[in-house]
Amino acid sequence: MKKIIAITKGDGIGPEVVEEGIKILKIISDYTEFEFEFQEALAGGAVWKKYGESLPEKSFETIKTSDALLFGAIGIPGLPQGVAEIAILKIRQGLDLYVNLRPIKLYDALKDRCPLKDEYIGEGIDITFVRENTEGLYKNIGELKEDEAHNIMLYTRKGCERIIKYAFEFAKRMGHKKVTSVDKANILKPSMLWRKIFHEIASDYSDLQTEDIYIDAFCQWLIRTPYSYQTVVTGNMFGDIASDEGAFLIGSLGMASSGNIHPGKVSMYEPIHGSAPDIAGKGIANPIGTILSVKLMMQESFGQVEVGNKIEGSIEDALKEGRTKDIENPILKTLSTQEMGNLISKKLKSRLKK
Ligand code: ATP
Repeated sequence: MKKIIAITKGDGIGPEVVEEGIKILKIISDYTEFEFEFQEALAGGAVWKKYGESLPEKSFETIKTSDALLFGAIGIPGLPQGVAEIAILKIRQGLDLYVNLRPIKLYDALKDRCPLKDEYIGEGIDITFVRENTEGLYKNIGELKEDEAHNIMLYTRKGCERIIKYAFEFAKRMGHKKVTSVDKANILKPSMLWRKIFHEIASDYSDLQTEDIYIDAFCQWLIRTPYSYQTVVTGNMFGDIASDEGAFLIGSLGMASSGNIHPGKVSMYEPIHGSAPDIAGKGIANPIGTILSVKLMMQESFGQVEVGNKIEGSIEDALKEGRTKDIENPILKTLSTQEMGNLISKKLKSRLKK
């Protein structure tokens, strides 16, 4: 089955981690019915410097006509605020990628890197944030004046319905028992609409438990009882902040993956971290967030849950033998970005052979 994968390497550590993601896709090509063709779509800060725009039309065209996009990270210190990052917003809005999926899973091998005591980790941390990605405060409706500034938090019924339905379907697919909705319905009108729609949709999923939590309380409970959450659905800004808090629990920012998804259409997969200019070019970046983004691509864009599980299993195997610097352990080998990618590749080959 032939699939075209658009590749945006980006800036800083982007090219280094994407290279390891491509390695994994090539192994899937070699060992399964999938045949991937890669097409580069230039974007980011360096591209802005050269062409005066961070997402040239040609790149967007390449992305639009692909089956999925693997994206590294963008941003260069010293550029005018936001000129590189606008590329991501253009892709999200241009492809109507309304689901931002952000899994937060603490692997057993990395329990020593979690900042929480064992009693708070409990039965383990395995949460997936389903964040609304196109509405709310980030829709960029507002004005900045000399003495006043505002943004409008706009949510529509259509926008709420499609993300909340996706969350319930995702929970069902993953065998989760509970869907948690996070809002601020005691104050914000868009949250009142959100909560109403959440309960309307929940009534179609009586086999799943549901709960609503205010964002401020949720930020505490995420630290105190992270084991009690499975699928968490929330709006654009709350999801941005709470999922970054969650990413802190799993050992390193370099471990966290994400998908910007429109079910059935071209979707974009990227690690949560930025271009990390402080470590770029040193060969020490952790590629696991990118490799887990490939796992999400296989699962969400190509319906290959089993292949996705094998990628994840290979990462767990590899973490018992070696680590990149950000998650290093004195009794294990410290590996470079490439070595980590190679070790995971080796484990994946043997899992796909079986
Ligand atoms: P952005 O605003 O684009 O998210 P940022 O500077 O806030 O960028 P990152 O670029 O993600 O955040 O980097 C924050 C720090 O986390 C970096 O200084 C780096 O030390 C660390 N870091 C980020 N990604 C990785 C990675 N893949 N491997 C190792 N360390 C990483």
